[in-house]
Amino acid sequence: MENCIFCKIARREIPSDKIYEDENLLAFNDINPAAPIHFLLIPKLHIDSLSDVQDIHQTLLGKMLLLAPQLAKERGCENGFRTIINTGPAGGQEIFHLHFHIIGGRDRLPGMIHSG
Ligand code: AMP
Ligand code: ZN
Repeated sequence: MENCIFCKIARREIPSDKIYEDENLLAFNDINPAAPIHFLLIPKLHIDSLSDVQDIHQTLLGKMLLLAPQLAKERGCENGFRTIINTGPAGGQEIFHLHFHIIGGRDRLPGMIHSG
């Protein structure tokens, strides 16, 4: 995708604070961290959101889920971490290239979102 910011990061057209890269996946620190450890894990393939995944993405999604805890531990989340996938406008998604937020580095993160 020509103008997608995360595609541009994957193509190295704009810089990122990269922490992991392989053929299919890329992880980099979030520019506006919500906790001491906050990085994003993306597929290099452009997929708009979790609402847009299809059967052909099964292996890719599996790789992302397997990699997330490995990277979290490497970055210092020994006692756990939170994985967030904001999806669509109602889910608070701002960048429409699928990404996992991996957040941790505190003794305990605040509780989940409440209704109201
Ligand atoms: P979301 O609301 O799930 O779409 O979150 C997008 C995330 O991308 C936010 O946490 C931003 O701080 C982060 N972000 C935006 N631009 C960049 C960038 N150039 N490098 C790293 N993180 C970014
Ligand atoms: Zn993209």
